[in-house]
Amino acid sequence: MKNGIHPEYNNLTASCACGATFEMGSVLDEIKVEICSDCHPFFTGKQKLIDTAGRIEKYKQRYAKHFADKK
Ligand SMILES: [Zn+2]
Repeated sequence: MKNGIHPEYNNLTASCACGATFEMGSVLDEIKVEICSDCHPFFTGKQKLIDTAGRIEKYKQRYAKHFADKK
């Protein structure tokens, strides 16, 4: 491996919005993620929705209307 042509590979701590942190290697200085294996429903088996701006509520309302119209 030649010196000087590769970006520096650091050990960094990535942090998630749920508060979990994990060590990983990357050329980046820091990594912030919104979801990780600790809080993703696929891994936890729990529903944990981060409903910013009420988008999920709007979605539900739209579907309720959609099905109401079909009757
Ligand atoms: Zn997380």
